[in-house]
Amino acid sequence: MTTPELSTTAAVLSVLRRGDDDYADAARTLVGEGYPELVVRPRSAAEVAAAMHWAGESGMALTVRSAGHSMAGLSRATEGLLLDLRGMADIAVDPATRIARIGGGATWGEVAAALHPHGLGITAGDTAGVGVGGLTLGGGIGWMVRRYGLAIDSLVGAQVVTAAGEILEVSADVHPDLFWSVRGGGAGSGVVTRFDFRAQQVTEVVFGTIVLDPSDPVRLLTGWRDAQCGADERLTTVLSLMPAMGDRPGMAMVQVCFDGPEAEGQAAIDQLLRLAPVLSSDLSVRPYAEVLEDAHMPPGARVTATNTFLDLDAAAVAALGDLYAGGGTVVSVRSLGGAVARVPVGETAFAHRTAEAMAVALRFLPGEPGPDDAVIPGWQAVAEHGSGRYLNFSSAADESALAAAYPPATRERLAQIRAEHDPDGLLSARGAA
Ligand SMILES: Cc1cc2nc3c(=O)[nH]c(=O)nc-3n(C[C@H](O)[C@H](O)[C@H](O)COP(=O)(O)OP(=O)(O)OC[C@H]3O[C@@H](n4cnc5c(N)ncnc54)[C@H](O)[C@@H]3O)c2cc1C
Repeated sequence: MTTPELSTTAAVLSVLRRGDDDYADAARTLVGEGYPELVVRPRSAAEVAAAMHWAGESGMALTVRSAGHSMAGLSRATEGLLLDLRGMADIAVDPATRIARIGGGATWGEVAAALHPHGLGITAGDTAGVGVGGLTLGGGIGWMVRRYGLAIDSLVGAQVVTAAGEILEVSADVHPDLFWSVRGGGAGSGVVTRFDFRAQQVTEVVFGTIVLDPSDPVRLLTGWRDAQCGADERLTTVLSLMPAMGDRPGMAMVQVCFDGPEAEGQAAIDQLLRLAPVLSSDLSVRPYAEVLEDAHMPPGARVTATNTFLDLDAAAVAALGDLYAGGGTVVSVRSLGGAVARVPVGETAFAHRTAEAMAVALRFLPGEPGPDDAVIPGWQAVAEHGSGRYLNFSSAADESALAAAYPPATRERLAQIRAEHDPDGLLSARGAA
């Protein structure tokens, strides 16, 4: 490795080193502080290509970040060159075609705010601060997922900078392999400097949280399944069983989004309100742009999370109930089906389209990092009823997580694409399949 000096390349790039203003902010992600040798903040695809070339030539490890919400810490750099894409966050909307061209460093909160005046929105995640980059590269499970599918199902094109320095426009017709790969194949096939989505027409939605008595989790899970899985596709909900924490007792929460007139969603929502004694509810009609929330991690807080895709038959429900009863674990089920399942498996690199729900287990970790951090007691019994893994909700991105996330045929195709566009593995060092 050659020691990077301020070269011609660096002279035109915006570069930060330790001690510079903004270095710490650029290096910090949701999972903690980073300490790369250099931070480059590109303003164009050409600058992304130049920075990647610089990293490759000098033998520096390359880490790419957008909003830094990777639960597996994939955007936290501890060496080499960190490419901070957050300066590339332009959003251009064409109301006639509903095409939104979104910079690779934008957040979903910025997207929602830019689309709202046009009566448009994109079903993406639930959190304003999450990046368009990481969420889209993983799939994107949002509040209108049952009606419009995953975020990637609304993607119509992208601009990708490959490790070889090419700046490519990709779509179903041009570089279809790369287009397939950026729809769920994770980081590793290139740096996406622009995502082109066809937005959905959406103004207001019925949205809010119903808080319920959690004492009968099996009844809750069964009732939620019956209310949700066959429901109108405009209804997307998440049931979370929250354990007691400190002085706060356990509770169940159903987060609800109905993308339609209130009267048309009322019967389905009433069914949810009958799942268990209601402790509170704040359902109301709101602009879709306002339903994305901000996530706050207390300083030093750590989480471990895993998930699987499953149908909620009696055995799966019992295993989820046992997991919650074991204590200390947040157990969530997110509704899928609908439009997700109508896209053929294989059409995108996200391969888990047939299950009716995704189950997620999450624990807050005390103290210093330890070897058992990833262990969620009772999870294995749930995992036996599911298949696959959503890497975006996984705090592990090791070999076993990658093998769960990508079936062999998907992985093989990803490997071929990466061999073609990144033969030296510049981008594949960080959790790529
Ligand atoms: C509080 C919270 C709420 C969440 N809610 C949801 C949700 O509702 N639905 C959902 O589907 N997911 C959700 N997620 C998961 C989220 O999709 C992932 O954490 C995602 O990786 C975050 O993307 P990011 O761009 O913010 O992260 P980053 O950490 O910046 O990036 C994540 C990965 O993508 C790569 N990357 C990012 N941008 C680019 C780019 N433009 N080109 C190439 N590679 C890039 C990075 O190198 C890294 O490997 C949530 C996560 C958190 C922490």
